[in-house]
Formats: sequence, structure tokens, C-alpha cells
Amino acid sequence: MADYSQMCSFVMMRINAFLDNELDDEVADQMRVHLSQCEECLNEIEIWTMIRSAVKHAYEPEPAPPALIDKVTERIRRLEQESV
Ligand SMILES: [Zn+2]
Repeated sequence: MADYSQMCSFVMMRINAFLDNELDDEVADQMRVHLSQCEECLNEIEIWTMIRSAVKHAYEPEPAPPALIDKVTERIRRLEQESV
């Protein structure tokens, strides 16, 4: 298997595939072993995890909380009554 620094670039090149679970089990295992030993790559994974969750959040907003929906519905109902 590749030496330590080669393994770092191996991991860096596959971070996204790793986080998407697109790698073969064998490759993912090799990366996990390296991540348990290499702080630099672990940091890199953490940064990517944050970026990805921020992006995901931007594109997939969470559904509005029920309380907000109630408030909006209530408001629409009142507006309808006023306009009658
Ligand atoms: Zn590394």
C-alpha cells in the first residue's frame, strides 16, 4: 500500500466520494484507517463535512415549523374575512 503522504493525497482526492459513500468498502476502509492516524486528513474531512452540510442546507431548506404554518394560515383566514 502507498506510504503515508501518498495516502494523504489518495484521501484528499476521494473526500467527496467518501462522504457520498460512493467508494468500494475496501477503499473506504483504507481511508478510515488513514483518518484515524492522520490529523491533517481528518481536518480536511471535517471542513468538507461542514461545507457540504451548509450547501445542502441552502438547497434543501427544512420544512417550515408547524407553528409558523398555523400563524400564516390564521393570517390568511383573517385577511379573507376582512375582505368580505
Ligand atoms: Zn493524511
